[in-house]
Amino acid sequence: MAKERIALVDCNSFYASCEKVFAPHLRNKPIGVLSNNDGIIVALSPELKKLGVKRGTPAFKINKYLIKKFDIRLFSSNYTLYGDMSARVMKTLTQFTPELEIYSIDEAFLSLTGFDHLNLTDYGKEIKKMVKKWTGLPVSVGIGPSKTLAKVANRFAKKHRFTEGVFDISDHPDREKVLRWISVEDIWGVGRQYAKMLRRNGITNAFELTKAPDKWIQDKMTIVGLRMVKELRGIPCLDLELDVDPKKEIVSSKSFGRAVTSFQEMKEAAADYCTRAVEKLRRDKQVASLLMVFLSTNRFKNEPQYANYASLHLPLPSAYTPDFLHATHKILKKIFRPGYKYKKVGIMLAEITHQTKAPLDLFRPTYLDDHRKIVMDCMDEINEKMGNHKMIYAAAGVSRKWQMRRDHLTPHYTTNWQDIPIVQAK
Ligand SMILES: [Mg+2]
Repeated sequence: MAKERIALVDCNSFYASCEKVFAPHLRNKPIGVLSNNDGIIVALSPELKKLGVKRGTPAFKINKYLIKKFDIRLFSSNYTLYGDMSARVMKTLTQFTPELEIYSIDEAFLSLTGFDHLNLTDYGKEIKKMVKKWTGLPVSVGIGPSKTLAKVANRFAKKHRFTEGVFDISDHPDREKVLRWISVEDIWGVGRQYAKMLRRNGITNAFELTKAPDKWIQDKMTIVGLRMVKELRGIPCLDLELDVDPKKEIVSSKSFGRAVTSFQEMKEAAADYCTRAVEKLRRDKQVASLLMVFLSTNRFKNEPQYANYASLHLPLPSAYTPDFLHATHKILKKIFRPGYKYKKVGIMLAEITHQTKAPLDLFRPTYLDDHRKIVMDCMDEINEKMGNHKMIYAAAGVSRKWQMRRDHLTPHYTTNWQDIPIVQAK
């Protein structure tokens, strides 16, 4: 049987790198990406890290002098751009393996089992070069006989320049050294509590952990922990998760840019999130029959507090936006209380099935066999061609003062014709 080989490809400083792709003049500049409502820094370019700025720092706390001196740029998070760039990276990676697990927005596991005839380090370098060429994004590649060791190798590649961003730990003579270099906090799957426990027991790095007795590990860290340690020893225990199950639920919710107090505004915001959730549903060719709406005030503020939620079953599974908008309105009327400053509203769709598996009904036409599907398909197509949300429901309002704050948002370079970058040749 072929020896298992897995590569973990991970984008370097993903959000910050996406911003730089379309702003070449920022290439060597320290830049940061801010959380929703421009609150804290969630992603940093290596140059910003070098200045000592940490993830999670509130934007307003960064020294104005520092910003000026080093020309630091801070951007609102542009999730449309990051999502699209992520899709491009994943698409590029499918060229290199028939088996790919998308692990997060900027990471994927690739099965390289059976590629023994190749030098896998060279293959990793090829992957890195291709992703850079096709998307403009820098990645690191870690290769190992298990997912956990691929993670270790990836971390090593990222932190050591001589690797040129690619490291294969599989048969490497220095595997022990590398494992000693990984402290317990940095092992994939070891949470903060476990790390503390391990340190209390004199285990400080990955190599020491591989030497602990199985029984002790299982007692202290359950079977899940034991599996992780076996993976560190080079015995694959975690399969690539290739079958994407239909989503169990879809949640669409965000905090408001400022407090919302009127029913009208609340209704508009809820309608907007609802519209997006149902769009997502259609994109995956699914229908849903349960809708839940939740809302809450800001529990960090010393103000009267209120939170509530309610749900509603549709008579038949649907992906027709107006069905859900009516239900949203109905629920909101039930749970909205005037006199509070609301911070958040959210929508959850559940009881999701694939369109083709949706139950039929003898007495009523279903979503699939009447005009509703045609109307939705048209609307999706127009929105796709004309840019996001050219066609919206009046229910979602037009002034949208409740939207989150995004004062430093970069253009949607890759998803909106209006925002496409302009190149000038002299
Ligand atoms: Mg990353």
